[in-house]
Amino acid sequence: MSAPPVTKIVVVGGGTAGWMTAAAMVRVLGQMPGLSVTLVESEAIGTVGVGEATIPQIIGFNRLLGIDEMEFMRETRATYKLGIEFVDWLRPGHSYVHPFGSFGIDMLGIDFQHFWLRGQSLGDTSRIDDYSIAAAAGKAGRFGWPRTDNPRSPMAKLSYAFQFDAGRYARFLRRYSEAQGAVRVEGRITNVKQDPESGFVTSLVLEDGREVAGELFIDCSGFRSLLLGQTLDVPFTDWSKWLPCDSAVAIPCELGGANEPLTRSTARPAGWQWRIPLQHRIGNGHVFSSSHMDRSAATDLLLANLDGKPLADPNQLSFKAGHRVRAWDRNVVALGLAGGFLEPLESTSIHLVQSGIARLMALFPDTGFGQVEIDRFNLETTREYRNIRDFLVLHYRASERDDSEFWRYCRNLPPPDSLREKLDLFTSSGRIIRENNELFTEDSWLSVMLSQGVTPQSYHPAAWMLDAEETRTRLAHIRAVIAQTVEQLPTQGEFLQANGGAIAHEDYLTS
Ligand code: FAD
Repeated sequence: MSAPPVTKIVVVGGGTAGWMTAAAMVRVLGQMPGLSVTLVESEAIGTVGVGEATIPQIIGFNRLLGIDEMEFMRETRATYKLGIEFVDWLRPGHSYVHPFGSFGIDMLGIDFQHFWLRGQSLGDTSRIDDYSIAAAAGKAGRFGWPRTDNPRSPMAKLSYAFQFDAGRYARFLRRYSEAQGAVRVEGRITNVKQDPESGFVTSLVLEDGREVAGELFIDCSGFRSLLLGQTLDVPFTDWSKWLPCDSAVAIPCELGGANEPLTRSTARPAGWQWRIPLQHRIGNGHVFSSSHMDRSAATDLLLANLDGKPLADPNQLSFKAGHRVRAWDRNVVALGLAGGFLEPLESTSIHLVQSGIARLMALFPDTGFGQVEIDRFNLETTREYRNIRDFLVLHYRASERDDSEFWRYCRNLPPPDSLREKLDLFTSSGRIIRENNELFTEDSWLSVMLSQGVTPQSYHPAAWMLDAEETRTRLAHIRAVIAQTVEQLPTQGEFLQANGGAIAHEDYLTS
């Protein structure tokens, strides 16, 4: 006999993770008899206040919630995003785009990169970026919808995501969740009650003595990890050996500079700086290793590299790369920063919340809390963190920079075995393995590996089926079609004016 369903869900925390979770719960489980979704948050504690760049999977989350994309764009002051521009990562003066979507066209049943590699061996000097519609449009500051209805269109190869105001996004999801029945409780949690035998969390005690009881507790309390870390004492797997950045300073500024539909990451002597252009302002931050640069130098470097006047005081943050050994323990599931953190180099944290929600929905417990389901959740979560870690480490490891202690440390770091295996296969013959449905696709690995100087020694023998002339002709044709298509697209400003723009900011819309 199965145990009765869980109906009393308590979400701890009202940051991006908390409100995404509450919204999904009321949307998906809303019809369950007796369901209650209660979210406890403390305005006095506040949220982390960053986390504004996303990846294309967020479109699926919006669809799950039934959110109107134009309303979402207006309310969160979002811009469109076609990828990430990495500046000075390979070496100072070099830049490339890691685009969303795919490269070129697969031919004769094999991946496009083998034809590109053959072209290079024949003297072609084009860059892999030239074969991505998203990279080309991003660099040109242009945007258009993907043509999913026409697989033959170059626009069928494009994917997009959003850059939004984190505070507005949480408020948007709060309105959505409350309208669908979620209940928000304001107050600081000062005590957590547990069943003396099982250790299951039974209720949260607030500063003023109120008590919030539940069956399933979802810990979205941020870096504090109030339930999973502090109460259940689940250990943390520390990956700072591979990802030594442990600090950040963030600051919004007025609009200025380019308004390409790209997040920008610029390498700095002890880390990197992000630039996230929104409709009404630019989000900026400097992620750095405190062993290689102190806070005040990191803050000065950020302030010296803004495109507009600062709009707030610098927000100082500290973190450690890694994750809780078990994201789900007893009746507590941690999502967001409470479960782990990987630096925002590839904008993956909000996605980790989303995929955690999807996994929780797939393995949703009854009041018996089956261990098999819990173990599966933890296995998949750990695997996802590990795959993302490897992709992030690649960026540091494959750099040619040796102009600071930080970069020398990163370059000389022995990679995790799983990354080593990927690098070996690619270096040998340009092949990429993607296992267990990992987040980053072959195209993503291809983009960062090639652009950061990981060069294959050979390529798939089938690429010889096209002779030299035909190879050159086809490569040139793909480049020309992409360039022509991009020329016809509106600028991001023009596109926003018609699709989701909330403000007619002259600088933004005309540049
Ligand atoms: P928080 O926003 O910290 O929310 C925690 C909540 O818990 C708050 O509401 C707080 O009040 C509540 N709380 C805590 N303790 C108590 C208590 N005792 N009582 C009551 N309430 C309590 N992600 C991306 O996807 N893209 C990015 O570009 C990106 N950039 C980032 C840059 C930096 C420097 C950092 C640190 C993170 C970045 N992230 C990014 C990650 C992203 O910010 C988070 O994943 C996201 O905001 C979710 O945070 P959260 O909701 O888990 O935590």
